[in-house]
Amino acid sequence: MSLAALQAIEAAHVVPSYARFPLELVRGAGTRVWDFDGNEYLDLLSGISVLNVGHCHPAVVEAVRAQVGTLTHVTNLFYTEPAMRLAERLATSSLGGKVFFCNSGAEANEAALKLVRKAKPGGEIVVVHGAFHGRTYGALSATPQESKQAPFAPLVPGFVVVAPEPEALEAAVHSGTAAVLLEPIQGETGVHPLSDELLRAARAACDRVGAALVFDEIQTGMGRTGTLWAYEQTGVVPDALTTAKALGGGLPIGALVTGERLADVFAPGDHGSTFAGGPLVASAALAAFDVLDDPELLASVRELGERLRDGLRTLPGAGDVRGRGLMVAFETAEAPALVRRALSEERVILNATGPSTVRLLPPLIVTAQEIDDALARIGRLLAPVNA
Ligand SMILES: *Cc1c(COP(=O)(O)O)cnc(C)c1O
Repeated sequence: MSLAALQAIEAAHVVPSYARFPLELVRGAGTRVWDFDGNEYLDLLSGISVLNVGHCHPAVVEAVRAQVGTLTHVTNLFYTEPAMRLAERLATSSLGGKVFFCNSGAEANEAALKLVRKAKPGGEIVVVHGAFHGRTYGALSATPQESKQAPFAPLVPGFVVVAPEPEALEAAVHSGTAAVLLEPIQGETGVHPLSDELLRAARAACDRVGAALVFDEIQTGMGRTGTLWAYEQTGVVPDALTTAKALGGGLPIGALVTGERLADVFAPGDHGSTFAGGPLVASAALAAFDVLDDPELLASVRELGERLRDGLRTLPGAGDVRGRGLMVAFETAEAPALVRRALSEERVILNATGPSTVRLLPPLIVTAQEIDDALARIGRLLAPVNA
């Protein structure tokens, strides 16, 4: 069906909660996607860090193919091998405790919020300005952005917002604090790494009062920053982390992973989800794990991330280049217009997180040649900005 036909259906029957680009994508492979007319695009967004393994990775496709004709869903009233194996893999690759599965990032944070509240009944949850934790009520209440929150008040009570500075955070944490929830690198608000000093202060403050430190690794996890988890590069170990986006190799799955201390807070009946951890998505996630939890690939992510940032720094018009691994952003005038031009003029998929910020989240299987190609395309897009 043509783009015009899809737009007519959208106008009549789709809730207008998204501002879509006028582009119909029909197929993907690796770092490339193709539109309805057969044009090829270099994808530097990966479905917002979902396709870390690239589009339609053969190992994920094979795992899904084998599982979809065998067993797709049984609920959590029964055992399936993919769910148990994935839980073991997630826990042993990170905090060593236990895993709760869900279907999205927001749901992973909901699980974390309920867990820390149960661990310290009535306790406050401290978050920082610039955070994004999702769109459901609990996750939205942890997302201190006026435009996202205001239309939906009243929100869930008990959230405290502070500046992302060590002193402010230390001052906000007291005996009635249940948890501090942080993204090691703030993604949706423009790729802003929190300082190691802030993360250490959060760890110390939580230890001082027996609160839980929770890292939202929904965007930073699964290899995005050049280690399987971003916390590994900070020297700070949280009590729990949340993951989703890239976990399923393109399929929807999220998870809360705890350390030892919070492993047995939930009891039967405390929390649940019909679809969560089903054999189909768990099989896809196990295949994605095999691809991403690989020292060679992770070294390449660190190397190519530096190549990308170094290259961007040589481009006139790209300011304040920042990020870690292949989670990168730069500042430029009129970022949304540049991202629109990128589709039609250079056939490259970029993302604007704000009026002046361009974010790059390429598939982690990207090559050095493709990074250089991306830089050439972005350089040409920036040329008129500088003229
Ligand atoms: C994307 C994202 C979420 C929300 O995930 P959904 O799957 O869209 O609910 C939460 N936190 C962070 C850091 C994210 O990047």
